[in-house]
Amino acid sequence: MQSTMQDAPLLISGIIRHGEYVYSEKKVFTVTPDGVEEATFFQVAKRAEQLAAALTKLGVQSGDRVGSFMWNNQAHMEAYIAVPCMGAVLHTLNIRLFPEQLAFIINHAGDSVIIVDASLAPVFAKVRDQIPSVKHIILHGKDESGLLGETIDYETFLTSEPAGFEWPILDERSAAIMCYTSGTTGNPKGVVYSHRSTWLHSMASTTTNSIGLSERDRCLLIVPMFHVNAWGAAYTAFFAGTELIMPQMYLQGEAIVKMIKELRPTISLGVPTIWNDVLRVTQNAPDADLSSLRGIVAGGAAVPRVMIEAFRDRFGIDVIQGWGMTETSPLAAVSIPPSGTPDDLAIDYRVKAGRVVAGVEVRITDEDGTVLARDGKTVGEFEIRGPWVTASYYGVDDPERFHDGWLRTGDIGSMDAEGFMTISDRSKDVIKSGGEWISSVDLEGTIMAHPAIFEAAVIAVPDERWDERPLCCVVLRPDASASAEELREFLSSRVAKWWLPERWAFIESVPKTSVGKFDKKVLRAKYAEDDLPYETLD
Ligand code: AMP
Repeated sequence: MQSTMQDAPLLISGIIRHGEYVYSEKKVFTVTPDGVEEATFFQVAKRAEQLAAALTKLGVQSGDRVGSFMWNNQAHMEAYIAVPCMGAVLHTLNIRLFPEQLAFIINHAGDSVIIVDASLAPVFAKVRDQIPSVKHIILHGKDESGLLGETIDYETFLTSEPAGFEWPILDERSAAIMCYTSGTTGNPKGVVYSHRSTWLHSMASTTTNSIGLSERDRCLLIVPMFHVNAWGAAYTAFFAGTELIMPQMYLQGEAIVKMIKELRPTISLGVPTIWNDVLRVTQNAPDADLSSLRGIVAGGAAVPRVMIEAFRDRFGIDVIQGWGMTETSPLAAVSIPPSGTPDDLAIDYRVKAGRVVAGVEVRITDEDGTVLARDGKTVGEFEIRGPWVTASYYGVDDPERFHDGWLRTGDIGSMDAEGFMTISDRSKDVIKSGGEWISSVDLEGTIMAHPAIFEAAVIAVPDERWDERPLCCVVLRPDASASAEELREFLSSRVAKWWLPERWAFIESVPKTSVGKFDKKVLRAKYAEDDLPYETLD
């Protein structure tokens, strides 16, 4: 029997129409060198219609790829709306990729037009002559350098057309936006989100069992719009009426603390590295005012317990941990303690990667693909499926990553009967010592609780007796000191004895990936090249 429901396609234009009318006066704020610029959702949507009309006139057609090489700002939001809603595909380019990788992804996606923030022109200039498919560069802002040759001025281009562009009715399964993985090994791989997947992901992000964005929120969007669509929050904003604060290039702890004080966001999204910096800045700043925040969403990497405790104890702010990947749009699990959890136990939930959100399914499997128990103890690889989880990569076969209709995440850990996931490692970061696994994530999280430690990253290094052992790379806080013996002593009451690292390296900072996560690949390479001095305890 057929249902009698209307068959309305789930399109991004539907999300935008809703935001534009129901939340027309909500605002997008952009922090600029000359102060804060603001525009209402209505104005942003109308400007997006102008942009779509201008792009159409330029020759952009349905399915064409339009790149963005931009900070988080209002113009980027306009591109987020215009390009997919007109039927083309927005390719968000990671501004921190090496030139070879950047050229690779532009060529692989076959971008024909790219919108570039003027302040990034010198960076983009490095690939300009390596990207033959790009016919036009649209420059947003003033650039006197002339490094990019012939360009189109964004503002003149946009304002040359009237608003009123009619968004076409599209197939909800057609491509809307694409993002390449930040690929720590090999070439980045493209993930293509559809209108339907984006729509459903936006809806999931408004549920109170997940991050619960609503029209009562103003969101400071620190996570870049080139990193998995700013974790989906840009579209969710129009879906839910959530105001957006776009920080552009002002991503240091000092600037963020100032922004929070002045623009009063209720929620903010970013990787743990950013939050660590905010804690550093506020350590000796009694006038730091984070009181507007109802919570911060931290994800993309394990969130150390000490960080969650610090935000709770110093500011009364809940850290909401989320887990996901470029391949999962990304929101897949969010860690909110179950109702009735006593306050003193809440943190034990907040340190977990997250609880599976409705719409996706997660399981763990062993090396043979056998599904394992969800008992909170058995460890295996997470596999995930659902309508906003990718089923393949763009233009490349990678059968290893897919299993029986499920995506193999490469994340190792356990899951309990209530759907809470605990990540112990990326499969490539696992330390196999004497046939047993040591969790680098646990070691890092524990050592970071030492008051002298600012950051810590643990890598596996070869060991004659045990095959592999952990090498603990630590960054001391300014003016703090601690010896390797002292740090190992600190760990000794907190982790199993055979986990205790013998090898300790004191480094200036942990290398970061293009999206701000710990880059252990760089540490491994340094170790392999004998360029990572360390001391060995007995
Ligand atoms: P990306 O595609 O760059 O977003 O990276 C996805 C990867 O980040 C995941 O496969 C995990 O290894 C890691 N990740 C994301 N969220 C978390 C989390 N809450 N805890 C631990 N690792 C995480």
